[in-house]
Amino acid sequence: MMEAAERELRVDLAPLVEEGLLEILPHEGWLTDDEDFRKGSGKAPPWRMDAFYRRVRSRTGVLMENGSPVGGKYSYDAENRKTWKGDPPAAQEPTFPLDPIKEEVLALVEELFADHPGTLRPMHLPATADDAEALWTWARESCLPTFGPYEDAMSTRSRTLFHTRISHLLNLHRLLPRRVVAEAEAMEIPLAGKEGFIRQILGWREFVRHVHRATDGFREMAPEFGGRAEAEAELDGEDSGWAGPPGASPSVLGADHPLPAAWWGTASGMHCLDQVVEGVWEEGYGHHITRLMVLSNLATLLDLSPRELTDWFWVAYTDAYDWVVEPNVLGMGTFAVGELMTTKPYVSGTPYIRKMSDYCQECALDPDTNCPISDLYWAFLARHEEALKGNRRMSLPLASMRRRSTGKKEADRRVFEAVRSALDQGEPVTGEMVERARTPSD
Ligand SMILES: Cc1cc2nc3c(=O)[nH]c(=O)nc-3n(C[C@H](O)[C@H](O)[C@H](O)COP(=O)(O)OP(=O)(O)OC[C@H]3O[C@@H](n4cnc5c(N)ncnc54)[C@H](O)[C@@H]3O)c2cc1C
Repeated sequence: MMEAAERELRVDLAPLVEEGLLEILPHEGWLTDDEDFRKGSGKAPPWRMDAFYRRVRSRTGVLMENGSPVGGKYSYDAENRKTWKGDPPAAQEPTFPLDPIKEEVLALVEELFADHPGTLRPMHLPATADDAEALWTWARESCLPTFGPYEDAMSTRSRTLFHTRISHLLNLHRLLPRRVVAEAEAMEIPLAGKEGFIRQILGWREFVRHVHRATDGFREMAPEFGGRAEAEAELDGEDSGWAGPPGASPSVLGADHPLPAAWWGTASGMHCLDQVVEGVWEEGYGHHITRLMVLSNLATLLDLSPRELTDWFWVAYTDAYDWVVEPNVLGMGTFAVGELMTTKPYVSGTPYIRKMSDYCQECALDPDTNCPISDLYWAFLARHEEALKGNRRMSLPLASMRRRSTGKKEADRRVFEAVRSALDQGEPVTGEMVERARTPSD
């Protein structure tokens, strides 16, 4: 059989492999092998995606010309950070026809899982081979020509913008990455967008799977990356209420606060979070930046448990599997494994969300006066100063945090406590609450 990507299945089948009853072959759902990872990223962590990606580009020849990257650069990331104001119009997500098999499955889901979170939107999930073809055709025609510039933008008006929604099809191997990359490479579209899209698949998707395999799902790591003693790790997942396979629980920043009800749909008062959460429960989808810079950013700023957040992502998204959700949430989203696979925590305050989205426009909180996200950002830096001070890429933000007056730092901490306590009680954050918390009590 082809090697299963999911650890649980690999573990289940291991005795058959050991007895020689099963032979494991390379999987066509992947474009790279262990040698690419070792030669690109190095044997031991820290591992970096860009080094791996350069190696894979030159080994495969994708977007290469006479041994050099097409256009002279391996990455055009810097050109792909535009905000989106409605023009060009966002791609309209396709719908797929119902058939008797889908209807039977839908009826079963409705009967058995009526009390589960989420909404059934049968016309919106590709299920058949024809649906998969239709989605990929839509992605090529409606998304890829404009994919690059607005890759990081977020909007209440479109959950997709120009993202392709192909992740679940790739993860189920209904679309093979070899074909997706080859067809994208052959398209006449701007190089920055083409490279940006190919990097997601040839770079990030392959890289996170190697990280998962090399660490056995973050179970085998040095303590500096949040690795733990075996006896301690065996307790992972016990009593957490999570019905899935127990996963590793690294947290180099010691974050362990339970996930508030806001992630399950209770209003938080922060429109960015509420919008994204609503979208996830409606569709089981959200694009990369909403996952990283809203859901994970806020969870990290609030010291929420990275493991609980991972399990939430696993439950909530249609494209989630251990090999991809764990590296993305534990590794990239929450800095739970420190610098193992990213150079710094992806955290930001109000200005980032305001610049890259239109969420603030409809928020009851005012980004100029009482939005708490920047307060949370400063409080996060102050709380974790000791853990982050050796990180070169954090030296500027830490220096700015140190320049804040003692009074401001105390106010940041009070806002952090007020916001977290409101969310713990399932209450929305209000401007009044933020302003009150900023004011010293005496
Ligand atoms: C906190 C967090 C959790 C995530 N959880 C998942 C998950 O459970 N399953 C999943 O497939 N992706 C996950 N991702 C990666 C990425 O966000 C999704 O693959 C992407 O948003 C899917 O939407 P799309 O198909 O429209 O992507 P596009 O933007 O159109 O990108 C094209 C493809 O590139 C691949 N890709 C892009 N970034 C990544 C990445 N970081 N890791 C792996 N593949 C990538 C996906 O296959 C995606 O379909 C997560 C990212 C973050 C930050």
